[in-house]
Amino acid sequence: MGDLRKFFGYFRPYKTSLIVGVVCILVGVIFNVTIPLIVGKVIDANWNDVTWTKLTIAALKVLGASALSGLFLFLQRRILIGMSRHVEYDLRNDFYAALVDQPLSFFHEHRTGDLMARATNDLAAVRQLAGPMIMYSLQTVFVVLIILPILFTINWKLTLLLFVTMPLVSLTVKFFGQQVHVRFEKIQDFFSQITARAQENFTGVRVVRAYAQENAEIEAFNKLNYEYAQKNLGLVRTDALMRPLMTFLIGFGFVLIIWVGPLLAARGQLTAGQFTEFNMYLFRLIWQAIATIKPLIADAPQVIPRPPIQGKIDFRDFTFRYHADSEPVLRDINLTIEAGQTVAFVGRTGSGKSTLVNLIPRVIEAPAGSLLIDDIPVAEYPLAQLRGAIGYVPQETFLFSNSLAKNIAFGVDEAERQKIEWAAEVAGLTDDVRDFHEGFDTLVGERGITLSGGQKQRTAIARAVLREPKILILDDALSSVDTYTEEKILSKLRAVMRARTSIIVSHRVSTVRHADLICVLDEGRIIERGTHDELLALGGEYAELYERQLLEEELAAT
Ligand code: ATP
Ligand code: MG
Repeated sequence: MGDLRKFFGYFRPYKTSLIVGVVCILVGVIFNVTIPLIVGKVIDANWNDVTWTKLTIAALKVLGASALSGLFLFLQRRILIGMSRHVEYDLRNDFYAALVDQPLSFFHEHRTGDLMARATNDLAAVRQLAGPMIMYSLQTVFVVLIILPILFTINWKLTLLLFVTMPLVSLTVKFFGQQVHVRFEKIQDFFSQITARAQENFTGVRVVRAYAQENAEIEAFNKLNYEYAQKNLGLVRTDALMRPLMTFLIGFGFVLIIWVGPLLAARGQLTAGQFTEFNMYLFRLIWQAIATIKPLIADAPQVIPRPPIQGKIDFRDFTFRYHADSEPVLRDINLTIEAGQTVAFVGRTGSGKSTLVNLIPRVIEAPAGSLLIDDIPVAEYPLAQLRGAIGYVPQETFLFSNSLAKNIAFGVDEAERQKIEWAAEVAGLTDDVRDFHEGFDTLVGERGITLSGGQKQRTAIARAVLREPKILILDDALSSVDTYTEEKILSKLRAVMRARTSIIVSHRVSTVRHADLICVLDEGRIIERGTHDELLALGGEYAELYERQLLEEELAAT
């Protein structure tokens, strides 16, 4: 929620709706504001020649103004709330798109419950903000801008009197509003704990049953649930304190007006009609203020759009640890990957390969200033721009229960079929698709056919290729395909990735041998670097790995 600029970007497609909606608000407010004027005039009219006709006309005017104001209120709601639903829909899509790009480690760090809470509650909150908040805020601005000057022209003394209580009302709202906000945050946090617990139990139901832990789990869950209810009650209590206090302060304001108003009238400074008018306006002002209580909290960090990413990557004295008090997982990495280069990382399991590549799309946050893309620290790129330039195939692939085409075109709106087929061809998926009954429209995942590990990996590669990224990252993405298929895919990828940066992580020498630069990682350090031939000549770890895999291949062949 921090990035306000990006948030407003979501409104761009609905600019027309937004403008029409705002105009409706203004027109609705104007009609609403004319009502007290009409009433005041009638009261101040010469009562000696009041006729039914005149009264009826005035009544009809009030009725007409109310009806028109209501009509525009209805229109504005229709338009703006409809728009907020669209914005929420787009946000949710992007949220899921971002999730899919995450490797498994991300889901280890963020509990599923957290993500679920975010996807449901937070996005709904955003919708609230996008629709009703815009509506109420603008309404308030218009109402205040129009009504305050009118109040001053009716009677400035009476208006100044308002400033005695109004600041108190706004202080109350501010104080309690913050309290409510803090409590709400805590509850949100707790909700994620509960969801995570439920989630764990659903997915781990077999384990729970196998160890006869049903009752213990139910009890634990009940406890959490009770605590959740208590926390919610706390929120309700704060809220319950705020409302009477506000009502009192507002009431007090009215008392002042009613007390001083007639005094002014007695001195001939205010007519009965004006006094009525004044009170009617005041009522509108207060009603509006109450409707806009929810504090709008948004701090926008500075994110400046950057020039298009070319693909140069720099690690400078890079040391990384997952937690402040744990051993570093990467140490003293100094590495420059020029735009267009292919760089490979090999190394034992746990040597830090996935960690290293996760840092580039900022799935994991790098220490400030030690990782640069095109000489700019990664943290200074808008996330959407950064990730838009990167095609990332994580070590663990995830497919949706959806058609193959939709899975490949994920996150890319309106991808042409031709392009999808091309991406599948590059990823070596074409032959497999031919065997599927409905080709690219075949459902995969839970509701469809189950793809093999290799097919899944290649689907994920096609997904990354489709975006034609400036930087392609394959984290062990060919581990489930045989070396022959692998070679085919790699040569096609090389053609596509010409002049683009590729980063390949693998356990296999065959995957990395053509890379411009191969780095061998060991316990977070680059212990060897060079081309395939250079490293063989060096006779170190890499050469040893090569010998071993060559031997394995020969053994397998016999
Ligand atoms: P593999 O070849 O098995 O994929 P890898 O080289 O990709 O291994 P990483 O996944 O980068 O290795 O892990 C490097 C080290 O960091 C390991 O010791 C691992 O336990 C640790 N590690 C990885 N992810 C996290 C995390 N989210 N929190 C804490 N430690 C982590
Ligand atoms: Mg890994």
